[in-house]
Amino acid sequence: MLELQNVYLEKGGRSILAGINLRVRKCEIHSILGMNGTGKSTLAYVIMGLPEYRVTRGRILFDGQDITNLSVSERAKLGITLAWQEPARFEGLTVVDYLRIGLRNSSNGLTPAQCLEKVGLDPLRYLSRDLDTTLSGGERKRIELASVLAMSPRLAILDEPDSGIDALSIEYIKDVIRTLVTNGSSVLLITHHEEVAAMADRTTALCAGRVLMTGIPEEVTRFFRNHCKPCSHVNEPSEEVVGNV
Ligand code: ADP
Ligand code: MG
Repeated sequence: MLELQNVYLEKGGRSILAGINLRVRKCEIHSILGMNGTGKSTLAYVIMGLPEYRVTRGRILFDGQDITNLSVSERAKLGITLAWQEPARFEGLTVVDYLRIGLRNSSNGLTPAQCLEKVGLDPLRYLSRDLDTTLSGGERKRIELASVLAMSPRLAILDEPDSGIDALSIEYIKDVIRTLVTNGSSVLLITHHEEVAAMADRTTALCAGRVLMTGIPEEVTRFFRNHCKPCSHVNEPSEEVVGNV
């Protein structure tokens, strides 16, 4: 359903993404593993079509349609949603109103309270809270994930939904991701927790803006563990590292 063909993103004369080929299938959980600074968030922004992150070269197809030149809102209308690594704060907007926005165009039958329960937050405590600085980073991440669940988008891009979340609560996050797929979403799951990457149908390992390998999670994780350490490639993305497998 999503296909990146030889995608490049250059900033300041440097290729942050250097020829990415990637396919996400319908109702697939596709995890992306990679060290810090390898281009995972950039990949998310490029797929979402953020203005600063329009591809320099290559194509992005969504259900066979070329979306390379579509805006963020046009992509959102097609059903692509991004949950940010650092969720925004919305002063003056309550959690319940934020979730209602997500539920407006969705037919999954969920209520705002159910969405919060799914991410392990007590609706009685959180529905009327403001989405501002009084919420911790972890709480905002969970609320954003609840909003993605409310939307049930065709493609959910989750940028490290597990960061800032305590180990015990990771199971909630994994459960929400499974529910998304049950409700018909495909999920691009960016993480650097091998345990979370392992829940995917397929995994792609990135290094220095290139795909090292795509395959079943166990295989890619083993490869990643043996080959990926903080390395000089991060600053030299133009160099060939390893071909796609
Ligand atoms: P990851 O999410 O894998 O940690 P990022 O995608 O955030 O990595 O960043 C990849 C690299 O691209 C980093 O070296 C980062 O500094 C650089 N980068 C990201 N966005 C920009 C930008 N707008 N301008 C210049 N460099 C950028
Ligand atoms: Mg990132």
